Amino acid sequence: MPNFICVTCGTQYPESEQPPARCPICEDERQYVGPNGQQWTTLEALLPDHRLVIEPVEPRLYRLKPEPKVGIGQYAHLVQTPEGNILWDCVPFIDAAAVDAINELGGIRAIAISHPHFHTVMVEWSRAFNNAPIYIHEGNRRDVARPDAAIHYWEGDSLPLWDGISLVHCGGHFLGSAVLHWRDGAEGRGVLLTSDTIDVVADTRYVTFMYSYPNAIPLPPAKVRAIVDAVEPFPYDRIYESFGLMVDGDAKAKVNVSAERYIRAITEGL
Ligand SMILES: [Zn+2]
Ligand SMILES: [Zn+2]
Repeated sequence: MPNFICVTCGTQYPESEQPPARCPICEDERQYVGPNGQQWTTLEALLPDHRLVIEPVEPRLYRLKPEPKVGIGQYAHLVQTPEGNILWDCVPFIDAAAVDAINELGGIRAIAISHPHFHTVMVEWSRAFNNAPIYIHEGNRRDVARPDAAIHYWEGDSLPLWDGISLVHCGGHFLGSAVLHWRDGAEGRGVLLTSDTIDVVADTRYVTFMYSYPNAIPLPPAKVRAIVDAVEPFPYDRIYESFGLMVDGDAKAKVNVSAERYIRAITEGL
């Protein structure tokens, strides 16, 4: 039986004869059902005319992009460390060529996912890499569309996975939204992989924090402050979000200034 994938968001569901009736991820206020209504595909249907592009971003960091785009066009990142590689976030596509290419880079020791817009086909990725554990914050358990034994739910403020790699719970966009701290990134000054938790904006001196990006629903000041406070203990100089933008240099100061500007904008106005 096929595992259907929602065309709009890229979320894969448990095996079923017929496509699911609806996609709760898309029906949520943070997403949207496409203009032509709910549509479904499968990995098998995507295989013939898609591929995974793996591009180097900085030493020991790679960006993974399905081409042409699948779902919301989300990217994943692969971080290489001496103790193994971590896949940060997931994309709604995988094929044998992608698995071979990533094995050339050292394979995948673990998968960690920021929030449900990146759950995509995570179970397929885990199975392709020796059932690699998938780390998801407990706060996002209710939004897992395809439960699996490989998923490890973690609780608390942060989870050190191994030397130099930690997950940090921030909340905001989703209850369980998390970021990845890579201590040795940015030439040792530290990198945050932030996904939709802290999003880099067009003026890349700034970031933003939203409940919904496509529907432009902001977060209240307390939740913005909670995100900033959560990442404060971790040294970082550079940020990568998951659609290709980055903050390069003085990232922590820029996050703090952005949060102040944001809170001013939604309270008294700029
Ligand atoms: Zn969907
Ligand atoms: Zn999102």
